[in-house]
Amino acid sequence: MGPGDPVLGNGKLVRRSRGRPGRPRLSGGGGGRFSPATQPTAPPCTDFDLAYFKAYSHLGVHEEMLKDRVRTESYRNAIRQHQDFIAGKVVLDVGCGTGVLSIFCALAGARRVYAVEASDIAVQAADIVNENNLSDKIIVLHGRVEDVDIDEQVDVIISEWMGYILLYESMLASVIFARDKWLKPGGLILPSHATLYMAPITNPERYHDSIDFWQDVYGIKMSSMKSLAKQCAFIEPSVETITGESVLTWPCVVMQVDCYTIRVEELQSITANFDFSSMLQAPLHGFGFWFDVEFNGPMGIEANSDATVVLSTAPEDSPTHWQQTILYLFDPIELKKDQIIEGSVTLSQSIENARFLNIHIQYCCGGRSFVKQSTMR
Ligand code: SAH
Repeated sequence: MGPGDPVLGNGKLVRRSRGRPGRPRLSGGGGGRFSPATQPTAPPCTDFDLAYFKAYSHLGVHEEMLKDRVRTESYRNAIRQHQDFIAGKVVLDVGCGTGVLSIFCALAGARRVYAVEASDIAVQAADIVNENNLSDKIIVLHGRVEDVDIDEQVDVIISEWMGYILLYESMLASVIFARDKWLKPGGLILPSHATLYMAPITNPERYHDSIDFWQDVYGIKMSSMKSLAKQCAFIEPSVETITGESVLTWPCVVMQVDCYTIRVEELQSITANFDFSSMLQAPLHGFGFWFDVEFNGPMGIEANSDATVVLSTAPEDSPTHWQQTILYLFDPIELKKDQIIEGSVTLSQSIENARFLNIHIQYCCGGRSFVKQSTMR
């Protein structure tokens, strides 16, 4: 990434990476949606939100997303799979970016698509819609979905809202807002479900490269730098691609999101317990996170699970621009085969900026207790 790349807040790349918590559901046939009489009120647009949307006005971030074929083709496949439902219907694209998903929906036969985009890339989205002779079907609305006027209920909501560790960026709240305000009963949400996973990982190369490097630099001892090097390299979550070979156990599920029923309050803090048993003897260097999203049919309609499109960002699957997110320990722990690592992980929105994510892991291993705390800014 170059100096002109978009940043979120102070210095972090937006995108991108973005799962689901211990999933409380609302009871009742309404699926947890608000009735029109209790429509959601728009949260204020903060300076942090403005900085976030500014980041998305840059071409590079959209180029990266569009070039992520795993991502973009999964959405296109899902739209094609649900073509019978979409044809002749009204679609709302929350955060349309360049308009790519809106156009896929129009090509699948949608009668009208509201393409809502808060950042200035909306200007280009309108040009792209024109260029494809779809301006009679796609209405680009430049503004926050929380603020725009749409005078009808919609049959489909589509959105690519996922951030690193699924929840970073907090864009899911905007999809929930749109659902509660405009989605017809029995409507379709794409994607419909998401799952966030976590597993212990080993990565000797990375540790060697960042820390052991200081042992001997051109024959000069610089090991006094190691403690600073650990701070610099491992204080914040690292977005990088690892392979399945780095993963020491089966992952645990940190969170499951049902986009039809999840409430915004459930996103503020998510805690999951874990109890891993190492499949290998290896140094534990940290904990890795990744997610997948599923594109099931509307709520209450039995999905044919073989046919469901799944977009996975797991280490064993094809890489995506989300890569994986790793929380490295300052010091590795030598694990024996079958050794237990038990504890809990909490993801919470930062008080400083709700789009930032606090990650708190407490764990016991070999009779000792540890805490790892980090913020994704
Ligand atoms: N749908 C596009 C872009 C996905 S990135 C694609 O698939 O390529 C998410 C987009 O949502 C960004 O462009 C961001 O500016 C926009 N966005 C995020 N929150 C929003 C909100 N509350 N209202 C409108 N747009 C939003």
